[in-house]
Amino acid sequence: MQNDVLQTVEELRDEMKESLMEMLKIPAVGPDSDGDGEAERAKFLMDHIKTFGFVEIKRYDAKDERTSSGIRPNIVALKKGKTDKTVTIIAHMDIVPEGDLDEWDTDPYEPVFKDGKIYGRGAEDNGQALMSALYAAKALTISGITPEYNLKVILVSDEETGSTYGVDHLLNEGVISPDEIVVVPDHSEEKGKKIVISEKSATWVKIIVHGKQGHAAIPATAINANRVMAKYQYEVDTILHKKFNQNNELFSPPNCTFEPTKREKNVPNTNTIPGKEIQSFDCRLIPEVPISEVKKVFKDKAKEISDETGANIELIFPMEKVTPPGTSEDAEVVKKLKSAIKSVTGIDAKVCGIGGGTVASHFRDRGIPAAVWATSDEVPHQPNEYSVLDYMVNDCKVFVSLVTSD
Ligand SMILES: [Zn+2]
Repeated sequence: MQNDVLQTVEELRDEMKESLMEMLKIPAVGPDSDGDGEAERAKFLMDHIKTFGFVEIKRYDAKDERTSSGIRPNIVALKKGKTDKTVTIIAHMDIVPEGDLDEWDTDPYEPVFKDGKIYGRGAEDNGQALMSALYAAKALTISGITPEYNLKVILVSDEETGSTYGVDHLLNEGVISPDEIVVVPDHSEEKGKKIVISEKSATWVKIIVHGKQGHAAIPATAINANRVMAKYQYEVDTILHKKFNQNNELFSPPNCTFEPTKREKNVPNTNTIPGKEIQSFDCRLIPEVPISEVKKVFKDKAKEISDETGANIELIFPMEKVTPPGTSEDAEVVKKLKSAIKSVTGIDAKVCGIGGGTVASHFRDRGIPAAVWATSDEVPHQPNEYSVLDYMVNDCKVFVSLVTSD
């Protein structure tokens, strides 16, 4: 029986490709990135999926006056199964802006199909998975098969800029319950060979050294903020790596990362000693390391070097993400994904953690075990972003297998 549906998915290959290309012509950039939102794209999708066999297609739009439609659309489409158990697949409609057009070989909003790949902004992120999930429902309907599980496909807005109007809005409305099996196909590890069950915590640190500006020829009259920053950065970096050196093999890399990143512009000329230096750190922490201890290292060292040099080292923590515990490897979503991937591709998928963030953490935060899985070449947000058609078709088969096997 399952083989028939998988064959149907194959037969839908061209239609999936065409549908993705049509959808990618409609920009869906959120207002936080100066776009007009996802309403037009949602209208296209609502119309497109009418015949896919969903018994119910509901809208949970969030108000957002910054868009011309006044809303940020969210679509919840349900395909009924034999039991009351539900597999929920969440994909996002919004995209990031195209970036520098000179970097694109083709128009980001005029999709091109070449060598088995669909090029266009949002092709991989998250258009591919969105179509894979929708076409799983259509393939089941065409084959006349009622799956074991309900298939709930949720298409959200605002994933790229915080999820307030998307996933968080739906969670607040109670649209997703803890007994649903939640798959977020919005990130790929090793081309689908790994299922993501955990995320590192993260904190950004902005360091501002307030020294005293002066002439480079008479340094005694100044406090060189550049030198103080160099010392601080070196010492804090050394302590962090020494102190938090434990590994968690779920993650790659398995250790915490502490990277000095952005350095802001100081004086424009060589013969002035800068009175102010600004430098940022990006820190990603395995679950064993509390953010508070990392912040303490930054604070203690700031006090020590301020006292020693007469400068004032100010710290700002502009972003902090404390991640909830990861999804257990024994969770139903992980077990089902593993067996669906195995049955379609023959791959024994392993679990892993990542340093970046996905909406899966919003579910885990509320006690809903979610897993992240998809197949891609990992080119999201890049110029010449693309989706590999074979991946889209295969992931669709995996989603079919998820709801048809018990
Ligand atoms: Zn995405």
